[in-house]
Amino acid sequence: MEGLHYPERLVELKEVVSLTVAVMPSGLPALVLNADYRPLSYYPLSLWSWQDAIKAVFLDRVNIIATYDTEVSSPSFSMKLPSVICLKTYVKPQAYPAFTRFNVFLRDRFACQYCGERHELTFDHVIPRCKGGQTEWENIVAACAKCNFHKGSKMPAEAKMWPKYKPVMPTVQELHKNGRLFPPNYMHESWLDYLYWDVELLP
Ligand SMILES: [Zn+2]
Repeated sequence: MEGLHYPERLVELKEVVSLTVAVMPSGLPALVLNADYRPLSYYPLSLWSWQDAIKAVFLDRVNIIATYDTEVSSPSFSMKLPSVICLKTYVKPQAYPAFTRFNVFLRDRFACQYCGERHELTFDHVIPRCKGGQTEWENIVAACAKCNFHKGSKMPAEAKMWPKYKPVMPTVQELHKNGRLFPPNYMHESWLDYLYWDVELLP
């Protein structure tokens, strides 16, 4: 629909919802692995609807690695829905994570960078916009509504509020590491072998 604009808040909500809706077990989504058997993406986790997964099977773009017990059938054929599929052609992963609200929260481990609060999170421009601060990895941190309000358009020194960590662009690996602290709300057992095999081993 052309000309349809979502208010900012709804877009934020949509972004978060899109991470969880796809993970509804009732939707029987398929975990999509790259040709190297690693998830195509972690954040959001690469999941396709069963319809898209089956389409990809018929287009010969993926191999089925594991299946659900649920079958789909028509008069001429039936098959078990795939729970894990693997691309036949390797897709080069992005070197740097996208600058999204979710990834900023993930970098900051879903905690206010001023007081550590985990609720009512929003974003703070460390150098306020009115003082020339840009909306970029190096100037945006997760902040609770209270700290965000308190800091307002003051510089860190004026407000005596400094972020816990100097904000930088994270690597994909750093986001993966943080992401393991916040696993999706639902994971099919057949996915587990492919999600955490590259966890660093503790001595
Ligand atoms: Zn705070």
